[in-house]
Amino acid sequence: SHAKTMENLIGTPESTLQVVFSDLGIEPYRIHQVFNWVYNYGIRDFQQMTNLSKVLRNRLQEKFSLALPHIQKKTVSQDESIKYLFELEDESTVESIWMPSENRNTLCISTQVGCRLACSFCLTGTLGLKRNLMASEILGQHMAVKKDLPESQGVTNIVLMGMGEPLDNYGPVVDAVRLMVSPEALRISKRKITLSTAGQVDKIKKFQEEKLQISLAISLNATDNPTRDKIMPINKKYPIETLLECLRNYPLKIGRKLTFEYVLLADINDSDEDARRLAQLLKGFRCKINLIPFNPFAPSGYRVPSDERVLSFQDILISRNYSVFIKKNRGADILGACGQ
Ligand code: SAH
Repeated sequence: SHAKTMENLIGTPESTLQVVFSDLGIEPYRIHQVFNWVYNYGIRDFQQMTNLSKVLRNRLQEKFSLALPHIQKKTVSQDESIKYLFELEDESTVESIWMPSENRNTLCISTQVGCRLACSFCLTGTLGLKRNLMASEILGQHMAVKKDLPESQGVTNIVLMGMGEPLDNYGPVVDAVRLMVSPEALRISKRKITLSTAGQVDKIKKFQEEKLQISLAISLNATDNPTRDKIMPINKKYPIETLLECLRNYPLKIGRKLTFEYVLLADINDSDEDARRLAQLLKGFRCKINLIPFNPFAPSGYRVPSDERVLSFQDILISRNYSVFIKKNRGADILGACGQ
């Protein structure tokens, strides 16, 4: 149909629009006027863009859609986080989780339907990759949630930590992030966006060249290669030493840190010896460590470590001068916690 062949202006990079607008004979500065309506005022109807001529409004309307993913369902957790279930145009679904706290409201968004990496402790990993999200669908999760929430609540931080491996959907993720941080588009602070990766070394190297300077989180999850091979098959391609070497060369601005995430699986990677080895591995990194006690799902075969175990693991790292946070399983009652 006509609608399907129309390009969604939301998520289209500015560089692409420069070419399209030029082909249509439209002045380049019009892009910024349209961006201001779309990304700053949240307008989704070209006819409301009152600083454009009627003729131009009609031409843009013929050429572009301004579509956001459809919110199919909202589920509110006892801890006040909200799970948004989005239905996409091909009827596949993805989730975003909105997590309010005292000093920030974080939105966790998805980058793929399913995931190819098959980490054994992750529910998304059991699905396999269904498809990559488009930039409009990645950005659209944020825009749709922002529109849905009252202005007093809103979104202050974005984490690309939902379903999927962001660096496995490289182009659309970069396009979406660029529009998030662009002063002409969503104007979100670079410090308030975090991309989480399972550790695809070649893509990390490529990503640093994009100069987006958002925060980077790495899911380390183990301290020796045999264990990491088992729980994260990507480790066979990029073992721990290769990954850490790449991260040692990752350019960090003054005052910024890497985040290492570590899922704690009872009796697999949660011993005091693991904690000591982790401290050894991360020596010299400007970093913080997020410990994530396993969020269970039915046939995983893994168990949740006891609170004492988690605290002991944390203590060992703290005594070696690391900043270590235990990630509460926000939204677990609505299957919104990590890996669910
Ligand atoms: N693919 C990316 C982002 C998605 S996973 C990555 O690997 O970083 C986001 C975080 O949730 C990762 O740190 C992952 O290790 C963690 N995670 C996945 N499944 C989990 C589970 N069942 N319990 C706790 N954390 C989990």
